[in-house]
Amino acid sequence: MNSTRRLDHMRVMVTGGAGYIGAHTSRLLADRGDYVLVVDDLVTGSADRIPGIPVVSFNLANGSSARLESLMREHRIDAVIHFAAQKQVGESVEKPAWYYEQNVGSVAQLLMAMQQAEVHKLVFSSSAAVYGEASGTITEDAVARPINPYGATKLAAEQLISASALSWPLRAASLRYFNVGGAGRPELGDTQTLNLIPICFEQIAAHKSPLIFGNDYDTVDGTCVRDYVHVSDVADAHLAVLDALPDEPGNEVLNIGTGVGTSVREMVDAILAVSGSDLIAEVRERRRGDPAAVVGAVDRMKELTGWSATMSVADIVESAWESRQYFAALAQRS
Ligand code: UDP
Repeated sequence: MNSTRRLDHMRVMVTGGAGYIGAHTSRLLADRGDYVLVVDDLVTGSADRIPGIPVVSFNLANGSSARLESLMREHRIDAVIHFAAQKQVGESVEKPAWYYEQNVGSVAQLLMAMQQAEVHKLVFSSSAAVYGEASGTITEDAVARPINPYGATKLAAEQLISASALSWPLRAASLRYFNVGGAGRPELGDTQTLNLIPICFEQIAAHKSPLIFGNDYDTVDGTCVRDYVHVSDVADAHLAVLDALPDEPGNEVLNIGTGVGTSVREMVDAILAVSGSDLIAEVRERRRGDPAAVVGAVDRMKELTGWSATMSVADIVESAWESRQYFAALAQRS
């Protein structure tokens, strides 16, 4: 872990800092004594997740560079962590131009502001979605060939950051997250139902069987294998990268995962067990575009920063369940 208190505090702008991964990271930064300014449009994020941290509410994508620049100057920002983005694969297929506007446009606005305000450190939220249908243990040097507009916008933003680092002294890292799950505290859990764990919880709550999309893949038990990494580990990775950015301008591309694969069947069994459900999973057709196995090679991150994931799949599933219970109780009270 790299989140111990240091003497040289930083002043960090966190875009999307009221969202799921963003709030975990903002709180970790504040806990170690860094100054944090969150910029978030508060559409899917919530200021309740980051009590005591200042939030400025607007969407970055639309002509916001002058506003960002003045915020950077006013708050004497040293570094930016950029989470703010749209992240629904299906929606990106429906609205590709809007995804480019939101996910690449925001990076363009941010980079213009950073250059003007002379803020030279950036950590960018990318995704293993840039690898498309690549299967197996994937290194950062694998060909990036996204298969949907969401993944394409993440890759385009990475390329824009790399181009910027050739033109002005930008020291950046693009973190390609694998399958992020769990919660550092119940109130920080993922409130969207976009991925396997929350989708299964939703099914169970409705007394319906969790669905397994395909059991005829060439994997350990025929179901897809993914690299599940705890959101607290992911948050910690951002601090580690921020502290270890090389002095030279550039864009370090880094996988953020555990290097360990878990099958959908194993995940669904763990989810059923933690929720105390006696439902039985049902196998359905393969979902289009799903690679058999996607596991991150994580050596580069370890070499650059010393960081590696510390939490298990059991930690992920249990903490996700506690968070779900927390939000269910909250909804019942209101
Ligand atoms: N999956 C599944 N049932 C569901 C939701 C997802 O079998 O109800 C599978 C999906 O096909 C994939 C894995 O779970 O193999 C992880 O899917 P998710 O959408 O969470 O993340 P992805 O790896 O696609 O980014």
